[in-house]
Amino acid sequence: MTKSMLADASQRLEQALKYAAISEDAIESLKFPQTSLSVSIPVRMDDGSLKVFQGYRVRYDDTRGPGKGGVRYHPNVTMDEVQSLAFWMTFKCAALGLPFGGAKGGITVNPKALSRMELERLSRGYIDAIADFIGPDVDILAPDVYTNSMIMGWMMDQYSIITRHICPAVVTGKPISMGGSVGREAATATGAYYVIQSMLPRFDMTPQTTTVAIQGFGNAGGILAELMFAAGYKVVAVSDSQGGVYAKNGLDIPAVREMKASTRGIRVPYCDRSVCEIDDQDVLTNEDLLKLDVDILIPAALENQITEDNAHDIQAKLIFEVANGPITSAADQILNQKGIYVFPDILVNAGGVTVSYFEWVQNRSGLYWTLDEVNQKLQSRIVEEGDRIWAIARDHDISLRTAAYVHAISRLGEAISAKGTRDYYTNGHGRKG
Ligand code: GLU
Repeated sequence: MTKSMLADASQRLEQALKYAAISEDAIESLKFPQTSLSVSIPVRMDDGSLKVFQGYRVRYDDTRGPGKGGVRYHPNVTMDEVQSLAFWMTFKCAALGLPFGGAKGGITVNPKALSRMELERLSRGYIDAIADFIGPDVDILAPDVYTNSMIMGWMMDQYSIITRHICPAVVTGKPISMGGSVGREAATATGAYYVIQSMLPRFDMTPQTTTVAIQGFGNAGGILAELMFAAGYKVVAVSDSQGGVYAKNGLDIPAVREMKASTRGIRVPYCDRSVCEIDDQDVLTNEDLLKLDVDILIPAALENQITEDNAHDIQAKLIFEVANGPITSAADQILNQKGIYVFPDILVNAGGVTVSYFEWVQNRSGLYWTLDEVNQKLQSRIVEEGDRIWAIARDHDISLRTAAYVHAISRLGEAISAKGTRDYYTNGHGRKG
């Protein structure tokens, strides 16, 4: 049987433990998700029938603050996946120094097959099922794969109905009109862009001479492609779930975005056009895109895309993980041996949760910031934490991923020890006999 995703994710922790000063208490506590909730959500479908969907919410660790993490709608969502994603959120929040623990949610569903009203009933039903488990000081939701601000708005509204008071801080990534933050929609891409820009000079590279391939053309990959295109990078390949396009001299990214956004018949809030439909370009598969000879490869779709099966074929010099967990731990080792620099998800895609934190702060203070304020705060935090991770990697001669975990673990370990009772026992008080 193949290893569970959580077991694979935990392997990163094992490697980092060698370099981090952390107590045995902390190691033991971080091995297991704190709470895992599984719910069945009955939904009245448009044809009058009743369908029951499976939903999950996992709080991995809340020592550093309330749980924080998105909700994913995807046919492949399982408890194992949600636990791994909650694990990553725990380390992401710690690596960025955000006052949150890690959590994640998901529903096993193909949202593109639902009507807009069915999607709304499902989203509200999910909140009905998990309401006792979440809250602005307990566990805060956000968008993830195939969820968006409209869905976050429904979720916040449903929670407010249940608790009988307006509670914007229970969900981030909301529409601006319901207390969302400016800059949140683009934050994952913007954060990744700041990380890439800050790291490039370390490799004596400039945007104009750098070729890029991006797997995934949604909220993260699509917006990042546009930012990089505007900065002068040569984005030679992009793909979505249907496949990808390649152009040796670079794609006209705004044109690809426009084409993809123009939907025929807006039955559901998902566009039904693929980047593959763009004219006059070579079409390639998602698999082939990963193997292109480019300077920068950006997996921005789903997890487990680079595995031990295809890691040997990767030719990029630098990989920036915008998706969560796109590279397995076995593939990580192969890429390391090949001398490829992998900038890990818990840094590169942390712009989303960082601006979620800003949204939560704004909701609680009632004072709203400008886009410049949001982006400046995001840039200084993500670049600063990236510099720290770079320095740890250099000092210990370890991979950037291990360094990111070392950085996160020291913050987590400190909090776990501060809360624990080990001192009492190590001072002899707790000894029997
Ligand atoms: N789903 C995003 C992530 O994986 C954002 C989470 C959040 O904003 O809480 O980081």
